[in-house]
Parts: sequence; C-alpha cells; structure tokens
Amino acid sequence: MSIQSVGIIGAGTMGNGIAQACAVSGLNVVMVDISDAAVQKGLSTISGSLDRLIKKEKMTEAEKTAAMSRIQTSTDYNSFKSCGMVIEAATENYDLKVKILKQLDSIVSKDVIIATNTSSISITQLAAQISVPERFIGMHFFNPVPMMALVEIIRGLQTNDVTHGLVQGMAKALGKEPITVKNAPGFVVNRILIPMINEAFFVLAEGIATPEDIDAGMKLGCNHPIGPLALADMIGLDTCLAVMEVYFNNFNDSKYRPCPLLREMVAAGYLGRKTNKGVYNYN
Ligand code: NAD
Repeated sequence: MSIQSVGIIGAGTMGNGIAQACAVSGLNVVMVDISDAAVQKGLSTISGSLDRLIKKEKMTEAEKTAAMSRIQTSTDYNSFKSCGMVIEAATENYDLKVKILKQLDSIVSKDVIIATNTSSISITQLAAQISVPERFIGMHFFNPVPMMALVEIIRGLQTNDVTHGLVQGMAKALGKEPITVKNAPGFVVNRILIPMINEAFFVLAEGIATPEDIDAGMKLGCNHPIGPLALADMIGLDTCLAVMEVYFNNFNDSKYRPCPLLREMVAAGYLGRKTNKGVYNYN
C-alpha cells in the first residue's frame, strides 16, 4: 500500500511547504486552514516558490501547472475524506492540536494515518487522543521544507510497524532522507542543536571570545554553514530559551540549565532578527 492523497492541516510556513513537496512529487493534496485568506496565502507562497524554481531552470511551467492542479484547498475537514494520510501542521499549541485531532478523528476512517509536524509536543501524548493511536506518528519536517532533506520520523509508544513503514516510504517518495527517532523532548536534531546554542551563550557570557569569533570558530572549525549565535538570532532567542526550559523541566537535569545571558537578552526584548537586535544588530 502507498499513499496517493495527503491531507494537510495548516497552510502556514510548514503546511504550505509540505503541500508543495507532496504536490511536486505527484501526490494529490488537500490543504486546509481556518480561513480562505489563510489557504490563499499558503497557495500563493507555493506558487511563488515554484516560480523561483522555474527561474533557476529547476522546473518547467508545465510542471508547475501540474503540481498546482494537484492541490485542493478547503476550510472544512470533511475534505480529508479522500485522503490516505493527514499531516497536522497547525500552530504549535497543545490544546489546539488536541482539538484538531479529535475533530479529525471523528471524520476520517480508522485506517487513515495521522501524522503531526510538532516540534515539541509528545507524540505519545497526542496519539492517546485519537481512537487508533497505533496509526499516529510524528513527521518532523525542517524549514524550508522544499529545500531541507531531513524528516525525523518519531514513533510514539503506540505507533505500529505498518504506520512507521508507510510513513518512511512516503518521506522517501518526497525525496527526503528520513531518520527514525523515539519520542523524547527535542527528538534528535533540536536536542543536540539547542544545547549547543545555549553553550555558545555561556562561552559569550564568560568573555571567552567575541560573538564574531565564536561563530567563526564553529564555521571554520566544524564546517557549520552558520555560527551558533547567528543561528540563535535566526531562530529567535525566545524560542531557544523556551526549548531549553522544556528540556530542563522534562529531564530534570542541570546540564540543560538555560544560560542566564540568554534569559537576560530575552527579558530585554533582544530576540534576534525578528526584533532587529539579538546577539547582532540588524538595523
Ligand atoms: P505558522 O504559524 O506559520 O502556521 C500555522 C497555521 O495553522 C496558520 O496558517 C494557522 O491559521 C493554522 N491553523 C491554526 N489553527 C488551525 C486549525 N484549527 N485548523 C487548520 N489550520 C489551523 O506555523 P508553522 O511554523 O507552519 O508551524 C506549524 C507546525 O510545524 C508547528 O507544530 C511547529 O512546531 C512545527 N514546525 C515548525 C518549524 C518552523 O521552522 N517554523 C519547523 C518544524 C516544525
């Protein structure tokens, strides 16, 4: 069995990226958001992204037209009835995701695979909200979805092998490289990445090197494409702090202690690029 038609909940940053990746790979897509304006915005982001691929001669006009024609949009979850799989990519909020999953569960048939793109919520806990938790799985794409090769596939305690195999196959069909991960805070990539960024703030706070030299060190010495402090500015210092707090509270381990300088900068409103000031100035 393979999946031919995919439902996507949320047409935002991740939802429209996942919709694009699916449609370009030949899957039929149903993309649902809460308003017509939201789905239209998602659709126009996809159209703009495909136009850039045409400009770079990585896609033809005909391929774009074919991909766009495979995307159906709606504001009604009943449109998911034809889908073999639904990927939830709505706003990161536990109560909202529970509400969405319960609503979806009452509409789609019991053999439909339900995946979530959550970055931080427990897959096991979300799986427990639906009637067939064995068919639930985490499918964590990276931003921007059309460019980034990795998909973390997260098995909740209840996820069965059939669901895992189908989702793994589907990720490969999208041209992605899936890795399989047990349910745990931060999964794999963010579990390693965010503490590294936190450590860079400790190094900065201790006056061991300037921000520029810390970033140059990690770029030139470890071949990272961007330094950890510049990356913190891109992600948002508030997001980095929130993630460290999740680890600190969940693992109850002092090695995840958020750096006081990170906390202080967030308190000052120095959140990174989005406030034009973080570790660096962007004015
Ligand atoms: P976003 O704010 O860009 O988009 C969220 C969309 O969900 C919005 O368009 C919103 O209208 C819609 N939405 C809200 N309630 C809904 C509902 N009841 N039904 C349908 N749609 C609804 O957020 P995003 O960055 O795309 O994040 C989506 C998910 O992906 C989150 O769980 C986030 O943790 C995860 N994620 C984000 C990134 C990232 O870099 N942005 C990376 C990996 C995973």
